[in-house]
Amino acid sequence: NTFAEIDLGEALNLNIRRCKYVKPTPVQRHAIPISIGGRDLMACAQTGSGKTAAFCFPIISGIMREQYVQRPRGSRTVYPLALILAPTRELSSQIHVEAKKFSYQTGVKVVVAYGGAPINQQLRELERGVDILVATPGRLVDLLERARVSLQMIRYLALDEADRMLDMGFEPQIRKIVQQMDMPPPGMRQTMLFSATFPKEIQRLASDFLANYIFLAV
Ligand code: AMP
Repeated sequence: NTFAEIDLGEALNLNIRRCKYVKPTPVQRHAIPISIGGRDLMACAQTGSGKTAAFCFPIISGIMREQYVQRPRGSRTVYPLALILAPTRELSSQIHVEAKKFSYQTGVKVVVAYGGAPINQQLRELERGVDILVATPGRLVDLLERARVSLQMIRYLALDEADRMLDMGFEPQIRKIVQQMDMPPPGMRQTMLFSATFPKEIQRLASDFLANYIFLAV
């Protein structure tokens, strides 16, 4: 029951030790092996449960294994391999800070893009390269419309606080975003949906976005 027992890769395991995480929280203990095993996941998780690490570790670990992936170059469009969607600027920047700590010296690049802030600096960050994009739905739709981001190479999608995103009226944006990933080859994407509550609307998102998923309530 330690992180060292889970094969996340040497560089990530070292960063986990640097963060002084020794024992996985309950959501981490169950969610990480499911995601490492390649299954889609819908997880019930509250703030403070350690959910950020629960979706970041499998993503970073997977990308470390896939860094050979060739992405188109030469245009101003960037092709992240993972997308983490969050409802607010505050939550997305918290996730960004955590994800950067976890990916230190792994070669995995994390960039954040949220609304309510000038887009130009975010565009410059994106131009330097991005493996994991953390974004709020509205700002991401803007970047997609400007053709500065393409989601065609997304392998990992995490939706954090999905119920809050729906409460804030982001469902149309989220559907538009996920539609852009539904390009061939199918089955390439692995999806993790985190939500504190499970009303009908969330269940519908899960059945639309997840394939053969495991439901986790801790
Ligand atoms: P979260 O629910 O992701 O916002 O995490 C809540 C807090 O718990 C954050 O400050 C994390 O850094 C911390 N945390 C997450 N997982 C662990 C762990 N396995 N051991 C110790 N602290 C943790």
